Amino acid sequence: MKVQFWGAAQTVTGSMHMVHHNGKQILLDCGLYQGRRKIAFERNKNLPFDATKVDAVILSHAHIDHSGNLPSLVKAGFKGPIYSTSATRDLATIMLVDSAKIQTNDVKYVNKKRAKKGQAPFTPLYEQEHAIETLRRFRSIEYNNLFDVLPGVTACLHTAGHMLGAASVEVNLHSDNPEDKPTRLVFSGDIGRPEQPIIKEPSIVAGADYLIMEATYGNRIHPEGGDAKATLKEVAHKVYNDRGKLIIPAFSVGRTQEIVFRLNQLAENGELPPMKVHVDSPLAVNSTDIFRSHPECFDDEMINAILEEADEDPLNFDKLNYIRSANASKALNHSKEPCIIISASGMCEAGRILHHLKNNITKKSTTILFAGYQAPHTLGRILLDQSLEEVKIYGQPYRVNAQVCKLEGSSGHADQHELLEWASQTAELGNLKKIALVHCEMEPATELKKQLELRKLGSVMIPAPGDEMEMK
Ligand SMILES: [Zn+2]
Ligand SMILES: [Zn+2]
Repeated sequence: MKVQFWGAAQTVTGSMHMVHHNGKQILLDCGLYQGRRKIAFERNKNLPFDATKVDAVILSHAHIDHSGNLPSLVKAGFKGPIYSTSATRDLATIMLVDSAKIQTNDVKYVNKKRAKKGQAPFTPLYEQEHAIETLRRFRSIEYNNLFDVLPGVTACLHTAGHMLGAASVEVNLHSDNPEDKPTRLVFSGDIGRPEQPIIKEPSIVAGADYLIMEATYGNRIHPEGGDAKATLKEVAHKVYNDRGKLIIPAFSVGRTQEIVFRLNQLAENGELPPMKVHVDSPLAVNSTDIFRSHPECFDDEMINAILEEADEDPLNFDKLNYIRSANASKALNHSKEPCIIISASGMCEAGRILHHLKNNITKKSTTILFAGYQAPHTLGRILLDQSLEEVKIYGQPYRVNAQVCKLEGSSGHADQHELLEWASQTAELGNLKKIALVHCEMEPATELKKQLELRKLGSVMIPAPGDEMEMK
């Protein structure tokens, strides 16, 4: 009985952990590794295990760093079920199809260059058919329902407060003797925050014997009262007075809806300047529809907003414009009006956000507001760190004259205090022996390890790819 860590091990992206029990293998998440393009492509393509020998997958949530390599798994011969909540399944439907499109387009661009040099073309990581075959393998399980994964293995999904449908996963590994208490492995998935708008708060999964826990912000305390709504209001007024554009790179699924929800609150209270707000991402538009169809995931604030608002839609207001078509997106380039543009990708690696940055980054009247985690080496991270005066977009250099700021209080991840609290409560009623810290860079992991050890919660490891945690 053991877990082997294959992804999000000493790094944030590419979540992938294999549970071994009674000769069976259960994969927790199968995420896309994101980083330098060439390394990422190789790493995502070459799965470190035999996909045909994996018996089942349990998916914590739909974010691409957790779900995005499932089509590679299927392409490599995986034939088992993929368990997730129904909201995660619905979001994965659009995200994996979108990801397949990105993979295909990425290779097209590279292959054009290779053809000019007389080099053989690359094949995409995976294509639409693999994404669709992946979706066929999904089995929806609602929160708080114990279900059979395989003979001798049961599991239960608990709210993680991180994004719509996100779960912490409880896995119970039974021995051959029915008298024995099963070994309980808890995988946190990504743990959100109680303040997170729209969705229910994280729940505690008590009685863990072994814990795999995310530590994205293991060395960070989120600023007290980091009030996202107040920041949005302030920045919107500033940009309106500058007659500029406010560009918000945001993940299409989750962060975009949260920002829209906050802007809707401001608009309802007459606190937004009279400027248009464009959500420019077909994926964001589609996922907003999915949000609307999963009220079982909503917190009280969201449910009250639906009941109280005249239009019964807290994800829409008069000045809001959801954009699907490429032409409408391009038309924004010519608009001289001050406006807010929320677009993807959230780390500025691809997608329409690049056009908006290209057209506005050299202007002093532009403000770029980051609303989420930026992985090292991404354009988003370079801009946020303000480490370069000039950045390359589509291979061309652009001077950064725009102002850059960050939306505090908008984190989708628990901070150090919240992680410690979560771990302590998870340890209750159980006999917590080992904790593996994943989904983090080394610095936050090392700091959180120190804090967990001070509290004597169990022995703590920071696994490298391929490392194992033995379980009894
Ligand atoms: Zn996530
Ligand atoms: Zn994640």
